[in-house]
Order: sequence, then structure tokens, then C-alpha cells
Amino acid sequence: MSSFVFSEKPIEMVSGDGMYLTASDGTDYLDFGASYACVPVGHSHPAVVDAVASQAQDLTYVQASYPHAARTALYEQLADLAPGDVDNVWLCNSGTEANEAALKFARSATGRSKIIATTRGFHGRTMGALATTWKDKYKKPYEPLIDGVEFVPYGDSEAMADAIDDETAAVILEPLQGEGGINPPSTEFLRTARVHTAQHGAALVMDEIQTGLGRTGSMWATETHDVVPDVLTSAKGIASGLPLGATLVRDWVAEGAASHGSTFSGNPIVCAAAGATLDVIESESLAAHAAETGQYLRTELERRLGDDVRDVRGEGLMVGVEVKRGANRLLRELALNHQLLALPAGRTVLRLLPPLVAEEEHCDTVVDALAEVVG
Ligand SMILES: *Cc1c(COP(=O)(O)O)cnc(C)c1O
Repeated sequence: MSSFVFSEKPIEMVSGDGMYLTASDGTDYLDFGASYACVPVGHSHPAVVDAVASQAQDLTYVQASYPHAARTALYEQLADLAPGDVDNVWLCNSGTEANEAALKFARSATGRSKIIATTRGFHGRTMGALATTWKDKYKKPYEPLIDGVEFVPYGDSEAMADAIDDETAAVILEPLQGEGGINPPSTEFLRTARVHTAQHGAALVMDEIQTGLGRTGSMWATETHDVVPDVLTSAKGIASGLPLGATLVRDWVAEGAASHGSTFSGNPIVCAAAGATLDVIESESLAAHAAETGQYLRTELERRLGDDVRDVRGEGLMVGVEVKRGANRLLRELALNHQLLALPAGRTVLRLLPPLVAEEEHCDTVVDALAEVVG
């Protein structure tokens, strides 16, 4: 019996270890998509497994109105990692919920409703976050969504400056678009959004759900551009694939959080997994490692694939390879003939988001396989 929502891949995975997943027939697959960027420290990292097992022994759940050590520790750890004073933490269960909270807090804190999003942006699939997502394919069947969302072209500083006014509650954007095709922004574009939101008293929301936690070579992608937002959202790999989203906000935005809540907010097991994951990212300096390994990967991709692809782009270990034919067919070929897993980002872009523990030898394997399938 398969899910009627997800289209299933023909390979059933039964276990994972570091960079690899093992299928039911015993075949190992190199997971260069990190299962949607959800395993930054690799599959079933022993520190994460231990933290989850030991927390489950003690307590699987307690209502969020009682403090719990794993949750309190995570609040502190996230506040320490946060850029600038974006250090009030709200925990939920997914990326879309983290963005949903961001939009609610911004509307409530500003008393305004207008939200500015960007073309080709992706922010999730619940009604509010979905309204700020660009692709009609995701939105049309579910309309009407929330009102008051305007789109500006990603990268167009002038359009961004023009769109922000005294009615604006929030600007939401990714500091490097993932789903939309691995599109890096200019620093000028992000700074324009920062300067004009500050001028008009609107909240700048950075969706770091895919870019954060060291993936682009610094803890947060927005730091590379010296931009401190008012709100930063995280999810995907934060708890090694256990359901956790986080909305980090400055004090003035936190004032808008009064009547928000969630039963599962800060579940002890999930918080223990997140604490262990963040410990590994920090103690093994995985952001710096991602910067170096990502540079190596992009250089090798350019050198070896050359004219056979249209473009190689990205930052750190968030890399897009724009190909000349359909990405999905190539991905199938890579999985079935080369035991290599990667992701699409639109119809013609292969998205490489390996665990941050990837080494140069893994990159070599990937470049060899890609050279064969695109050649
Ligand atoms: C995946 C993603 C989301 C949505 O996260 P879910 O956990 O699937 O709800 C939002 N924004 C970005 C940038 C993402 O990559």
C-alpha cells in the first residue's frame, strides 16, 4: 500500500550510515541530496542516535507549558547561533509552520497585512506559506489562499525597493533559492530588502530552511552578505530529519507572538536530536568544511562537465547543475545505474545537497557519474 500523496521511488531504503543509504536488496546508495537536506551530519549519526534513544527512555513527551531540559538547552543553543539579536526562539514541527509563524508574528507586531515574496521562491505548503510560494502548480488547486501577498522578481533591487511601503508587514525570501533552481542573490538585493524594510518598519524574514546550518559555507547564508534579518526560519536538517522547525525573531517581532501555539512545540526527543545535530555541526566545523568541499565540487564539475552542461552554480554544499535535458530522467539514470541519489530543482537543474560531512572522494564519485550521464 503506497501513500496516495507521495509518488514513491522504486527503491526501498532500510538503513543509513553517514553518506550512504542501503536498500532492501543490499545495494548502497551515495545520498548526495541528503534526503532533502535533512541529514547534515550524515545518516544515523551515532551522537544523534544516542541522544534520541536516551531521551526516549526518560520521557517521550511533556506538554509544552512545562519547561524541559532538552528544550531549554536548544533555545539557548539556537540563540547563541543566531545572527545578531535574532534570538527569541519559537519551535514547531516543519518548515512551512516556521514560516507560517513568521508571517503571523510580523502581521501582529506591525499591525499590517501586506507581505512581499519573490518570484521562484519556495516557502512551504500550508495556506499562508503557500501564498508566498511562487509556483502556480503548488497553489492553484487550493485557492483562495491568504490575501495581501505581492511578488517581486528575485534579484531585482529596484522592484524590491519600490514594493516596500508603510503598509508592508514583511518581506520573505531565501538568501539563496533552493527549490526555484539554486539561484544565488546579489548582496545588493539582500541589502536593499534590509534597508527598505528597516526604513518602513516592516519585518525582513530570511527563510534559511534549506540554506542554514552551515550548508552554504557559513552557519547562515545571510551572514555571507552581512545582512541581519528580523526573523530567520530553520527546519529540514536541524534535527537530522526528525520533525522540527524553528522561527528565530528579534524582540520587537516576538511581541507579535502572544496568541500563537502548538501542542508538539519543543517535543523532548526532537529537541534532543536537534541538540546533538547542532553539537556535531559546531564541534566538527562543518560550515567551514562545506565551504571548502563545495568549492572543490564546483571546480571539478566545471572542469569535467564543461560544455556538456549549461551552468554550475551555488555556494558551499548547495550546488545546482543546469543540464541540457530533463533533470528527472538524469536523476533516474544516476540512481539506477550509478547508485547515486540527487534532487531536481525545477525541470532542468540537478540539485546537489550532500550531508556536510561529504569528502572530496565522494565528490569525485559524483563528478565521474555525472560526466558519464551528461556526456
Ligand atoms: C523545504 C522548504 C520549506 C518547507 O519545509 P517543510 O518542512 O517541507 O514544510 C520552506 N522553505 C524552504 C526554503 C524549503 O527548502
